[in-house]
Amino acid sequence: DQSLAQVDPEIAAVLEGELDRQRGTLEMIASENFVPRAVLQAQGSVLTNKYAEGYPGKRYYGGCEQVDVAENLAITRAKDLFGAEHANVQPHSGAQANAAVLHALINAGDKILGLELAHGGHLTHGMKINFSGRLYDVGAYGVDPDTFLIDMDTVRQRALEHRPDVIIAGWSAYPRQLDFAAFRSIADEVGAKLWVDMAHFAGLVAAGLHPTPVPHADVVSSTVHKTIGGPRSGFILSRQEYARKIDSAVFPGQQGGPLMHVIAAKAVSFKIAASEDFAARQQRTLDGARIIAERLSAPDVARAGVSVLTGGTDVHLVLVDLRDSDLDGQQAEDLLHAAGITVNRNAVPFDPRPPRVTSGLRIGTPALATRGFGDTEFTEVADIIATALIAGASADVEALRARVATLADAFPLYPGLQQ
Ligand code: PLP
Repeated sequence: DQSLAQVDPEIAAVLEGELDRQRGTLEMIASENFVPRAVLQAQGSVLTNKYAEGYPGKRYYGGCEQVDVAENLAITRAKDLFGAEHANVQPHSGAQANAAVLHALINAGDKILGLELAHGGHLTHGMKINFSGRLYDVGAYGVDPDTFLIDMDTVRQRALEHRPDVIIAGWSAYPRQLDFAAFRSIADEVGAKLWVDMAHFAGLVAAGLHPTPVPHADVVSSTVHKTIGGPRSGFILSRQEYARKIDSAVFPGQQGGPLMHVIAAKAVSFKIAASEDFAARQQRTLDGARIIAERLSAPDVARAGVSVLTGGTDVHLVLVDLRDSDLDGQQAEDLLHAAGITVNRNAVPFDPRPPRVTSGLRIGTPALATRGFGDTEFTEVADIIATALIAGASADVEALRARVATLADAFPLYPGLQQ
């Protein structure tokens, strides 16, 4: 039985190169994280061999006695962690979880209302060429043009006009908390179901550092790989009355055999997410984002035409507004990449530049908090970013790169691990 390096040296080199890249740079893409070794182990296990269509105790394949234990643990832990009545842990990804949610709640042709994609919504909340935009009649609410905040009076107005069957609360790029009680009352007023997509902020909710949508929503979907820091995948929480519909929408509605190695890794992640260390890490995540928002709001940064959308953050990310800067989103992303910091450019609402260029950056702190960063390190990272954005094209990239290397070396990632 040959090793990966023997069977496929080209792919082995990719794994090695990627481990080096992750170790040597600062990962600040808001949707990324580093899974613990226990998750790598569960995910890279023999459970990948097993077919287990169906649900624990009700499978369409024999030999499921071990994987049933894993899935039951994942379900119980997800329910306990978020105080939910029902959990489905089979979605392969966040997008597939979301497809199953709409499949369970409404029929093709019915109406949905979510946050505008260009204002921080997700593709699965109604983008034109996504399944959600093709199957459903889509309406959208945007952020306020002055405050860049979601204004609940506007959401109500849009709901009264569009009369949606499902209202979606959730985002991929928004730096503030949502008012779930207000969403609930609007949903009740127009006779809609409320679906919250907490993919981004689920880890903060698990740690008790963000309001929970669970008591307000009919259904809550999430990914496991963003703030939670688990395997790349999704899950769905719901009230008991939707349990049967959600389960049948996931399987056989959207998927065939569940990825049992990933489900085992989800169980591990939910166990970790109930720990005190996890809560402390989420707190460092929030503190780090606040430190970055404050540094990027300082007068020297403002003079370079750079600011922070909404003036700050309540979550794990900061949205940088480059509309008045000489740098566009692409140039700023490339500059930070050259300095060893990975972020993604992001359209700001009402962005004058095209979507491939953009006038914004989305900067997140979950991965660095997992790496062990606290206030001191986030203060240094914030200053590296500020220095780069102020200097723009004339930045001393070598000097910035050296500061990044000092931080990366001080917090070794996966020490001793070989790919
Ligand atoms: N929902 C939201 C709010 C997201 O931000 C994302 C990921 O970017 C998803 C769903 C989709 O998750 P995945 O990439 O696992 O399909």
